Amino acid sequence: MIIASNFKTNHTRQSTALFVNEVNDYIKKNNISSEVFVFPTATSLDSFEVVSNFSIGAQNAYPIVTGSFTGEIGTSQLDEFGIKTILIGHSERRHILGETQNKIAKKYDFYKELGYKIIYCIGEPLEVKNKGLDQTLEYIYEQFNEIDTKYENLILAYEPVWAIGTGVTATNDDIENIHRAIKEKFPKPLLYGGSVKVENVREICQIPNVDGALIGTASWKTEDFIQILENTK
Ligand code: PGA
Repeated sequence: MIIASNFKTNHTRQSTALFVNEVNDYIKKNNISSEVFVFPTATSLDSFEVVSNFSIGAQNAYPIVTGSFTGEIGTSQLDEFGIKTILIGHSERRHILGETQNKIAKKYDFYKELGYKIIYCIGEPLEVKNKGLDQTLEYIYEQFNEIDTKYENLILAYEPVWAIGTGVTATNDDIENIHRAIKEKFPKPLLYGGSVKVENVREICQIPNVDGALIGTASWKTEDFIQILENTK
C-alpha cells in the first residue's frame, strides 16, 4: 500500500514537527510495510529532523531551478530540504488556482527529467460524473495529455473533484470501475483520494486496483493518520 497525507494549507511549523516526529516514531516501532508520504506546506519543510521511515514531498513547486516567479519556489529551494517527491495535477491547483493541462504537463516533464517521484492526480468534477462513466473516463484520459505515463517514478491518484473535502466518498463500485479502466490504460500504482476516512480506508484499499490512498482532511490529526496506517498495514 501507498499512503499519503496532503496537508494542503494546514498546520504550522510547530504542529508539522510534532506530526512528522510522531509518525516517524510510529513507523519505526511498528511493522509498517506501506510506503508513506507526507506533503507539508512549503514553509514547514524543514521544521523537523530528517525522517528515515517515510518520504516528505512538495505539494507544489514551479518548473524552474531558480528565477523570477513571484510567490513560487523552485528546485534550488526544494534541494535545500532534500525533497525528491512532488504532487502534480491536484484538483485544487487545476480548478481553484487555474493550472491548465499544458502547464501541468510542462511541470510534469521538468520534474520527470530531474527524477522526482511524482504523484499525479486526475479526477472529474460533478457535472462530468453526472454524464456517466464513458464521459467521466474520457475527461480523465484528457488529463493524461502530454504526460509520459511510462515514467518509472510515477504514482497516479484518482481523486474525483466532488469527493475532495466534501465528506462524500465515491462508492466502492465507482472506485472499482474507474480504477480498472485507468489501470488498463496506464498500468502504474493508483491511489484513491476524496473523503477517505479512518473508518473507510481499509475497505477502500481492498478494492481491486486500489494501491493506496491520498488523504487530506482525515489525515491532519496525528492520531488519525497513525490509525489510518494501522488500518492499512
Ligand atoms: P480529502 O482531500 O481527503 O480532504 O477529501 C483529498 C485530497 O485532496 O488529496
